[in-house]
Amino acid sequence: MQKNPFRAATYLLNAHRLDQLPADAGAEIAFAGRSNAGKSSALNTICDQQGLARTSKTPGRTQQIVVFPIDDSHRLIDLPGYGYAKVPEKLRTHWRGVLDMYLRTRESLRGVVLVMDSRHPLREFDRMMLEFSAATGRRALCLLTKSDKLSRGEGARTLLAVKKELATIAPGASAQLFSSLDRSGVDAARSTLAGWLFAD
Ligand code: GDP
Repeated sequence: MQKNPFRAATYLLNAHRLDQLPADAGAEIAFAGRSNAGKSSALNTICDQQGLARTSKTPGRTQQIVVFPIDDSHRLIDLPGYGYAKVPEKLRTHWRGVLDMYLRTRESLRGVVLVMDSRHPLREFDRMMLEFSAATGRRALCLLTKSDKLSRGEGARTLLAVKKELATIAPGASAQLFSSLDRSGVDAARSTLAGWLFAD
């Protein structure tokens, strides 16, 4: 089996503002998603480290950007979970501005992973993130998580429906089923992301 480059990821810092991020050099991939979509679990599964990203017992607790370097010039970025009703409006507006600025200006950003619960894909904020990504010329991969909760037929139908919508919202964005529980789609996701991150 091929070595998993994401196993080398470690925790570096939490940031509340973009100027707290590491210098904008090298290459990084950002993970975004609604609270509770399974973003932390997906990061942990991809990196094969159960304790790396903290899975949220309290949705909405993770209102910060978390940086996970893989080596000196490659990083994974965990963007704040969005869509949690109890986050005050002021903070939501703050993060919307930060995300917009990040996607527009971050030169080392090679692509965005949008984590969505496969039972409720493409909610309002997901669409906004995809539109932001497309408008700023970013690659996007939609991980349709918790696919273990769908039958094979439901999974296939969901994937097809999402791909169809992506063609209009964010042409060029791709999608796949993913489960941190039964690990389906994990190798495919790693391979796509390694291609983005480590290609010259
Ligand atoms: P985050 O808020 O997006 O970081 O979501 P978490 O990773 O903390 O996951 C939210 C909840 O969904 C937790 O209870 C997880 O155990 C559960 N979960 C995450 N991924 C999966 C999965 O692939 N399958 C199933 N069945 N549950 C999952």
